[in-house]
Amino acid sequence: MQSPAEGKKVAVIAGAGPAGLTAALELLRRSDITPIVFENDSQVGGISKTVNHGGNRMDLGGHRFFSKSDWVMRWWQEILPIAAGEIDPQRPVRINYQGKSNELTPSAFAANSSDAVMLVRQRLSRIFYRRRYFDYPLKLNASTLRNMGLVETLRIGLSYGQAQLSHRSPEISLEDFFVNRFGDRLYRTFFKDYTEKVWGVPCQEISAEWGAQRIKGLSVTKAIAHAVASPFRSDADTSQKQTETSLIERFLYPKYGPGQMWEEVARRLTAMGGNLHLCHRVIGLERRGVDITGVVVRDNRSGTARHIPCDHFISTMPVRDLTRMLEPDGAGIIEIAQKLPYRDFMTAGLLLKKMRSENPRSYRSSKNGMPPDNWIYIQEPDVKIGRLQVFNNWSPALVLDPNTIWLGLEYFCREGDELWSMTDGRFIDFAARELEKIGMVDRSDVLDGTVVRVPKAYPAYFGEYREFDKIRAYLDTFTNLYPVGRNGMHRYNNQDHSMLAANCAVDCIMKAGRGKSAIWDINTDEDYHEEVDDVA
Ligand SMILES: Cc1cc2nc3c(=O)[nH]c(=O)nc-3n(C[C@H](O)[C@H](O)[C@H](O)COP(=O)(O)OP(=O)(O)OC[C@H]3O[C@@H](n4cnc5c(N)ncnc54)[C@H](O)[C@@H]3O)c2cc1C
Repeated sequence: MQSPAEGKKVAVIAGAGPAGLTAALELLRRSDITPIVFENDSQVGGISKTVNHGGNRMDLGGHRFFSKSDWVMRWWQEILPIAAGEIDPQRPVRINYQGKSNELTPSAFAANSSDAVMLVRQRLSRIFYRRRYFDYPLKLNASTLRNMGLVETLRIGLSYGQAQLSHRSPEISLEDFFVNRFGDRLYRTFFKDYTEKVWGVPCQEISAEWGAQRIKGLSVTKAIAHAVASPFRSDADTSQKQTETSLIERFLYPKYGPGQMWEEVARRLTAMGGNLHLCHRVIGLERRGVDITGVVVRDNRSGTARHIPCDHFISTMPVRDLTRMLEPDGAGIIEIAQKLPYRDFMTAGLLLKKMRSENPRSYRSSKNGMPPDNWIYIQEPDVKIGRLQVFNNWSPALVLDPNTIWLGLEYFCREGDELWSMTDGRFIDFAARELEKIGMVDRSDVLDGTVVRVPKAYPAYFGEYREFDKIRAYLDTFTNLYPVGRNGMHRYNNQDHSMLAANCAVDCIMKAGRGKSAIWDINTDEDYHEEVDDVA
């Protein structure tokens, strides 16, 4: 491990995800503090990494690059410029994401021959329900009526009407929230199973307030509500056109998946003299009163532990781990931190020769049956899969052989539960069987598979989270400690929020620790996040 130059201050950073790497690069760009980044994993990127399985690259989820922040948009493009030919330089395009939009005006384009580029992608995702594809956003058109059946559509409409006439009051649970807005039938058809799959808790046990906060941007909800409510609303035709236009979503995407962005940042960071140590886990903290004086780091390969002194400490590790390492007096803080809720996530990558062709007239599958979607919401109650990614449609460069189909089957689970504990082989077989059960593939067409487990993928906002203010107040007492990022702050962050928090932490370090509350203010008032239907 290289020592920083004599007399130079050191910032130790735990984690080389988007937050940790942004903090490190900004420290190098804007200060003479040396960042030393320790990453537990053998690669950078955190949840936004790309996993390379035999030349086929997997995104854990599907990471759309979009931000309302111009600073973030410029930052990304400075690292990976837009590929020439993706947009017309004379006519900047608006990119839209979950109802928000930003103008894409690249200052430069990358050469055609360069691989270090971002693509501009247009979203297509549909809902798979009753073994059929429904448009997204859902439209009250002939295809929906055909799929749903006239009688069922009428029932949904009636149940919606009923809910408008007799509201559940008081509105206590998420179930009440859904039923009051969409009617019991629509709730049971489209929301109940999916939400419970995602969060692992019955809708009656999640608070209505949580629904109001977290689900106000839910696009399936918006779309279905719009579709259902339109015939009953007098202003339906005036708003229709606008709504459809704004729901067309475009986003940026690195040619080789999200991890490419963070691998390039890591390359620059080391070229500029920063230190990055993979397979190194921060396992302890040393402090004198309210000053962090050093960290204890374990090399995962050799098992040896070492003490590293520091002047500042930026943590992107889970709040639970950070709090335990600080050894607070009294049991209160530790108890809250240990009970903070999370949802975990598993994804199976399946490589296929072909898929069973679908048959809607409006969309064309490829010759090998590959659907045209980036991802498909699986709303079937008889399988556990939540979402299906079609990686070929995110970027063709993610797939080694363009004649094959590279899928990601996403499952929401709990660390240690039945799904999580399956061996990789059993899980791949289980996932393939599920796709066969719903009629999308024949298992004999599966060529290869892999599994990635993502613990603490979703910091959740129920249960002990209500006491989070106490943890924040405790962490704020430390002079040179900066918790940032998704699990670092127990926030439902997208990449851009994690980056903004990291950048803000660098500002505070440069102002001798002043202004920490600005870090906590990021991602509190915005109403766009990964939506429950999108992530989750
Ligand atoms: C399914 C899914 C879909 C998503 N889709 C999008 C999207 O479309 N767009 C978007 O912008 N965002 C999306 N996100 C969110 C995005 O993945 C996160 O916001 C982002 O990765 C958070 O970055 P971070 O650095 O805060 O944390 P992380 O990515 O979690 O990185 C933290 C890092 O710290 C390391 N670490 C933890 N403990 C230690 C320790 N003790 N010592 C050393 N290292 C440690 C971890 O190994 C990890 O690498 C999605 C997330 C999920 C789960």
